[in-house]
Amino acid sequence: MVKPILTIPKDDQALRQKSQAVTTFDKSVENLVTDLTDTIDAQTDPVGLGLSAPQIGVFKRVFVARIRNKLKSFVNPKITKFSQAETSFLEGCFSVPEIYGHVIRPAEIDLLSQDMHGKSSNIHYKGVPARIIQHELDHLDGILFIDHVHTQNGKVFKVEKDKRGKEQFIEVSLP
Ligand SMILES: [Zn+2]
Repeated sequence: MVKPILTIPKDDQALRQKSQAVTTFDKSVENLVTDLTDTIDAQTDPVGLGLSAPQIGVFKRVFVARIRNKLKSFVNPKITKFSQAETSFLEGCFSVPEIYGHVIRPAEIDLLSQDMHGKSSNIHYKGVPARIIQHELDHLDGILFIDHVHTQNGKVFKVEKDKRGKEQFIEVSLP
């Protein structure tokens, strides 16, 4: 079922909660993954790269992420290794509407996580998938990408269309 997405400033307090580990792999985990999938698939402008359970008001350690064009679910994810190398990437978030900013993060990670049935895997990710996973995992700890922009002294931008309909990035203050 498509769920409403929590956004700041209205839902700031909820989005700042730390989510709880999944301990029982019953139908409710499957239903949660279905809701996350339905909700992210309903987003077309822009298309969603990832969505975490707390963003739909469920404070469980679950998220979905688009990995090489396929939506994959992650339960109880834990990064076991970060690369020394870091990259900067322009991030946005459905919970921080219309705001974009560059965030510096480790370029590669090893992720230990479970699927919706409790099966564990440990997978190495790099590039955009590593980026999406780190962003979504942050949500489970109540962290938003703008927090990183803030600590990294970065800037945030709003996208506005000019008279000819061309998109422009306008610098705004951090929400
Ligand atoms: Zn987000």
